[in-house]
Amino acid sequence: METIVIGAGIVGLAVARRLTQVRPGERVTVLEKETEVAAHQTGHNSGVVHSGVYYQPGSLKARLCRRGVGLLREYTQEKGITYDEVGKVVVAVDATDEERLAEVHRRAVAGGVPRVEMLGPDGLRDVEPHVRGRAALRSPTTAVTDFPAVTRALADDVAAAGGGVRLGHEVVAMRPLRSGVEILVEHEGGTVRLAADRVVVCGGLHADRLAAMVGGGEGPRIVPFRGEYHLLAPERTHLVKGLVYPVPDPRYPFLGVHLTRRVDGTVDVGPNAVLATAREGYRLRDVDARDLWQTLAWPGTRALAGEHWRTGVAEVLGSLSSRRFLRAAQRYLPELGEGDLRRGGAGVRAQALARDGSLVDDFVIEDIGPVTAVRNAPSPAATSALAIAEEIVARLP
Ligand SMILES: Cc1cc2nc3c(=O)[nH]c(=O)nc-3n(C[C@H](O)[C@H](O)[C@H](O)COP(=O)(O)OP(=O)(O)OC[C@H]3O[C@@H](n4cnc5c(N)ncnc54)[C@H](O)[C@@H]3O)c2cc1C
Repeated sequence: METIVIGAGIVGLAVARRLTQVRPGERVTVLEKETEVAAHQTGHNSGVVHSGVYYQPGSLKARLCRRGVGLLREYTQEKGITYDEVGKVVVAVDATDEERLAEVHRRAVAGGVPRVEMLGPDGLRDVEPHVRGRAALRSPTTAVTDFPAVTRALADDVAAAGGGVRLGHEVVAMRPLRSGVEILVEHEGGTVRLAADRVVVCGGLHADRLAAMVGGGEGPRIVPFRGEYHLLAPERTHLVKGLVYPVPDPRYPFLGVHLTRRVDGTVDVGPNAVLATAREGYRLRDVDARDLWQTLAWPGTRALAGEHWRTGVAEVLGSLSSRRFLRAAQRYLPELGEGDLRRGGAGVRAQALARDGSLVDDFVIEDIGPVTAVRNAPSPAATSALAIAEEIVARLP
């Protein structure tokens, strides 16, 4: 039995490793178009190990995040990768926030997130002395880690177990066979045809295109959202001890501008969420005509834009102005001043969008004959990757 996994992000490599563990006699090969692992979402994220406070009880996210945290914690310990439980507060600054925070608390308790507690203004001050709010939810087990290091370790495990990780190999076409799948792959030396009994697609920002090659459902489509970060000036990083988040707006799957302490001690402010003009467009000026056309031609994009154009315009303006970032963070960190932010990096989220314009919130895994396609693996998929891998491998024929 031969399995090909497409994509060497954290999800693809976790799946490949799991296969080598539970089906040791079978051959596993990972194909990745870039020349390094973790080149896209996995290497451009916030580095937060989410404890699972936000997710709808009973959803895949809720279940796989909790399981994923435990597995990830163990794995980082085994590999000597930093895993720092810096803790997180979600801060309510007004009455609307307070109402929404009560729902977040309810979900956290229903989801079995350990040691969450509600704090008043004084309790919040004890945990984060510079942060102000009417109330806060504290999750002391929320952690930060180095996801690219985790991904490299997974690739090493796959190789050590006899699997292959072929970098610089782009899948350009797939064709279902009577039994198995034929895959056309481009690499530096030319084009090769490979055959596999089964394929697992973990293509992140290209998940929909890869699924379409084998007759997967038309939706959901991937719509790229760029998330830009600012950095807190080094002399101001003492303003936060751990992770500080606003209360998320339930209409959006993104968490709002937050302050994230990374494993190297730097503090990110962000990310925002701006509709991107290229799936791998990390700069405002990056435009890919095919990506842009596919985004705009999808009826879901028009429906989304019709409903949320005001927020969209605000986010684009925010992307051009540090002051908007500053204002968002000042709501709960009033000491933050004009000179405290530096421009940082950016990531692009693969957000699945349904035909009717609804943003698909939960993880989506589609079975298409011999192909299993991860159609939506947004945050917290890095946190949940080892559990997503268990889930996928358990359902493979
Ligand atoms: C800004 C941002 C912040 C985030 N913050 C967090 C966080 O703090 N915590 C958290 O848990 N999650 C976070 N996430 C989400 C998390 O990073 C992703 O859910 C996770 O990395 C998804 O992993 P993946 O392997 O599915 O995708 P990716 O890492 O994107 O990997 C997909 C791979 O497939 C490859 N590929 C695509 N098409 C082909 C092809 N045709 N042939 C060969 N290879 C192909 C790509 O090159 C890529 O390497 C964040 C994401 C972003 C963008």
